[in-house]
Order: sequence, then C-alpha cells, then structure tokens
Amino acid sequence: MENIREQFDILNSTVYGKPLVYFDNAATTQKPRSVVDTLTRYYITLNSNIHRGAHYLSNTATEAYEQCRRKVQSFINAKHAHEIVFTRGTTESINLVASSFGKRFLNSGDEIVISGMEHHSNIVPWQLACQEKGAKLKVIPFSEQGVLDFEAFKQLLNEHTKLVAVNHVSNTLGSINPIKDIVQYAHSFNIPVLIDGAQGISHIGVDVQDIDCDFYCFSGHKMYAPMGVGVLYGKEEILNELPPYQGGGEMIKDVTFEKTTYNELPFKFEAGTPSVGDVLGLDAAIDFMNTIGINNIAQHEDMLLQYAMQQMQQIEGIRFIGTAPNKTSVISFLLGTSHPYDVGTLLDKLGIAVRTGHHCTQPIMERYGIPGTVRASFAVYNTTQEVDIFVNALKRIVPMLM
Ligand code: PLP
Repeated sequence: MENIREQFDILNSTVYGKPLVYFDNAATTQKPRSVVDTLTRYYITLNSNIHRGAHYLSNTATEAYEQCRRKVQSFINAKHAHEIVFTRGTTESINLVASSFGKRFLNSGDEIVISGMEHHSNIVPWQLACQEKGAKLKVIPFSEQGVLDFEAFKQLLNEHTKLVAVNHVSNTLGSINPIKDIVQYAHSFNIPVLIDGAQGISHIGVDVQDIDCDFYCFSGHKMYAPMGVGVLYGKEEILNELPPYQGGGEMIKDVTFEKTTYNELPFKFEAGTPSVGDVLGLDAAIDFMNTIGINNIAQHEDMLLQYAMQQMQQIEGIRFIGTAPNKTSVISFLLGTSHPYDVGTLLDKLGIAVRTGHHCTQPIMERYGIPGTVRASFAVYNTTQEVDIFVNALKRIVPMLM
C-alpha cells in the first residue's frame, strides 16, 4: 500500500492544515506519477500530430497512440483493435452511439430501454435521439435496496425495442448490475445492448467478449488516466453499420464537393486531432492497474467498503441509499434530516473530500424522495486509517447538525 500511495503526490497534501482524505473517486481518481510523467514526456519529447505525418516525431507518436489502442483492446478483451474508438469520455461515447445509432436505426414508435439508475449521460443523449425520431424511452425500475427489477426489464422488451442502455455500476448506489444476463436476454430478441462502464472499468474486470455487449463506454479519468480521453468499444459488425458522428479530418477516405467516402474503423469515428498525450496517459494508467491487478484492486476496495459500512452503521441517524448485496465501493448516505451539502462542507473543513448532491442522477433522488446524498467512494490507494478519520469526523459533526 505504501508503494501505491507513494506514486500519488497529491495524497500527501494538506487542506486547511489537515491531511487530505480523498473519497471522491467516483467523480475522478487521482493520477499516479507514471501517468503525469507520460504526459510531460509526450509534450517535451514527442509532441506532433499523428497519422499522415512524414517525419520521425509524427511516426513515433502514431505508433504510441496505436499501441494504446491495442493495450485497451487487451485490457477489455475486445476481438479487434479497430473496435476501440478513442473519445473524450463516457459522455461523448454514449452521445456518439445515440446520435449515429438513432440516425441509422430509430424510427417513429420505436423504443429505447434504459434503467432508473442511469447517470444523466445515459439518459439525455437517448432523449435527444428519441425526440428527433419520435421514439420513446422506457425505464427499468429498481428496488429500495438499489437492485434492478429483472422481471420488469423482461416485460419492457417488445417488437418496438431497438436498444437497451444500462450502466455496469451505478455511480450513486454502487449497485453492480447483472449486465451479462441483460445482454443475453436482449440478444434473444436480437436487441443490441450498450453498457455505460464509467464506474465498472476501474473496479471490476471487464471482458467485453464474455459480457457479449454491443457497446461498452468508459472514461480515462475515472481509472487513473488524464481527463479528456475515453473509449467507445463497439462490435465491428455494428460499428460498420453506423454513420459517422462528426465530420472532419481523419474520418474520410476521399472528399470532393459532391461526395465524401468515409475511412475504415476506427478512424471513421475519430474526426479531427485527437488528444494524443492523454491517450498515452491512458496507456500508462492501464499499466498501473495491470501491475496491481484488477482482482487485487477489487478485493482491496471491497475490504474498505465492508469496513466502512460496519463503522458507519454506529453513527446516529445515518441512512444509507443503495444497499444492494452486489455493490462496489460507493457509499451514499444521509445524516438525519441534515442537508447533504452541510455534511460535505463540514467534512471538507476536516480535510475530507466527498461529493454531495444528486451526482447527475436526479431520477434516483426522485425515486427516494430526497434532494441528494453525501457520497464517499474509494479507490485502490485509500486505507482503513482514512476510513477511521472519516468515521470519527462524522461522529464529530453529527451533534453539530442535529
Ligand atoms: N456514467 C456514469 C455511471 C458516471 O458515473 C459518469 C461520471 O460520473 C458518467 C457516465 C459520465 O462520465 P464523463 O463525465 O467522464 O463523461
């Protein structure tokens, strides 16, 4: 653990004179030195525009960029490297699919099925696509504990359903959804499935061939990589069917004023200059995760989750939001009737970074009839000592709020 923490300079900082306890990992993780060094090295030694270049820097940067594509392919076990499209993040990946899939396959009266525990990024792009084509959005309900209602999901599918889009892990409830079963059931009616993996990728191993999903989307910055880079995985057959998302350089084969023919996968979906340095940072972040091992990461975070839940249960007036038996290290809670923002502000003064509010999941808040939650979320570098500091801080602030 010391070896891991030592790679994150920021974890040694103090805020308001208190050692920083960073529990806002579901929003973004901190970056190890290897990732920051990779970014710096890129700009100092390799900066150039990729593909098309006839010189050393461009060729070397292109090779490094394409090497990262192969690394992502192997990290999620995709069949082909050209099934990996680099984007700015989960939000852009989902918007790409909603826009292109919508244009190609959606018609008036069609239906898209999502779940009630989606991030706004997996709601609004589908609403936009549905509005454009006169299609409808259907929503899978979930239980008080935060478990998707699988029977209700089955009932929602019919001959109008064109696609199912659900998250792997809820960023607010921590629930791990049964995505393999969802894919299997949807596929039995030939309905494709998109998985929002923003919270899955850094906490549990992802094997897209085993899951058999048609699309899997994630962000680099939630898995120790820089902001500004993400991935859309799509099966070759379906990506080939979709029209381009954006037009511009790189995504074309030939352009005349009369007609443009498009480049092959994955370049068809990578218009313009990509964020090369950030992609190389993603490569370094995958190395960081692979060195520890995703199973070790999952085990450590699960230990923290169990430990924290046990300690937090002793706190007077605490209410947990999201208690699914199968969940990752995200703890959403309320203290009595206090506003989550007040709890977050007091924790901040004690050096503890948590997130408060609706976490871009307003329908979840509506489901529970609450304005928001306080959310603590753990990463591989967090410790039980930090959980102790957090729990003691909560015990200190309870009397101030009630
Ligand atoms: N989906 C989920 C489940 C998330 O947790 C998030 C971010 O918190 C997103 C999508 C959006 O990710 P990004 O802002 O990196 O595009």
